[in-house]
Amino acid sequence: MFLPPLDEAVLQQEAHRLYGLLNSVSRSQGVKWTLEDCLQAASYTARINQLKKEKDAVILAHSYTVPELVCGVADFSGDSYALSRQAAQTAAGTIIFAGVWFMAETAKILNPSKQVIAPAGRAGCTLADGITAQEVRALKRAHPHVPVLCYVNSTAEVKAESDVCVTSGNVFDIAAALPQRELIFVPDLLMAQNLEIELKRRGTPKKIISAGSSCCVHARYTPQDAAELRRQYPHIKILAHPECRPEVCAAADYVGSTKGMQDYVAASSDKLFGLLTEQGLVNRLEAQYKDKKFIWSFGVCSYMKENTLQNTLQALMQPLPEQVVALSPEVIARARKSLDKMFELAK
Ligand code: SF4
Repeated sequence: MFLPPLDEAVLQQEAHRLYGLLNSVSRSQGVKWTLEDCLQAASYTARINQLKKEKDAVILAHSYTVPELVCGVADFSGDSYALSRQAAQTAAGTIIFAGVWFMAETAKILNPSKQVIAPAGRAGCTLADGITAQEVRALKRAHPHVPVLCYVNSTAEVKAESDVCVTSGNVFDIAAALPQRELIFVPDLLMAQNLEIELKRRGTPKKIISAGSSCCVHARYTPQDAAELRRQYPHIKILAHPECRPEVCAAADYVGSTKGMQDYVAASSDKLFGLLTEQGLVNRLEAQYKDKKFIWSFGVCSYMKENTLQNTLQALMQPLPEQVVALSPEVIARARKSLDKMFELAK
């Protein structure tokens, strides 16, 4: 990829802008971003920020992607729900979606007339790849009249087979609000268990029929990880994602979506947090709350990290066919219904 040279003053200015955002962010365990790191990133971020204006493009980046994308070039960043809302509202002609493939598909479902480009191409997700539309149809045949809720971490074809889509931020409320006593929930087996427990706790018990898999990042946490954090840091507040095992959620002080965890930290007067989630959220919180400390032991989504400044710039300049999202009008129309139902119920 040929890149014309950048003006040195522009480069330095951009590097210092980035350093102001990233100096409190961990690059690896115990190592923070340096001005030198920012100088290297700046040669890409300066070009990306200029090019996205010229091309009428908006960049949406999931919080689990790398901090140089989230802080350096994203117009909006957040979790799946926040980004799908942004995707539904954007006026830009092109959407660059730094995330995994199912997220870019969701943006396409909400913006069928726009070009949606995923820099990481068909980056997978152990949840979205954990169930097929055919398997959902088999579940529906086995349990007629039972509504199907699909977690947003699912393919467009699975969404098209579902009655309502949900996110980690609204799954409990939407499931509780539905009148049925039995629900099919795909594809997160651990979230399905957490859902059954939470509905019982709320006094609206329901039978949850589930199939699929689990998130390879969140499923790795154990109650021993929480216990070890408490042993090392007696005053720590432990935050977990509902994609974790129920025993892990039970050991946490707060269980919620990425946005829920951000809100918890924002509202808390505590200074020390243990995060049983993905590294990207830790980096976002480090950038945002420089007076607070975040302990994170492990948990990296290799799929999310396939998004880089390099492939974002390349995708903006000239996307490859495998980076451009294409879905059939029929799948878009049917999947859209499950997303619209979520927006309606989540109000
Ligand atoms: S963190 Fe887990 S759920 Fe999220 S994209 Fe990665 S594998 Fe999928």
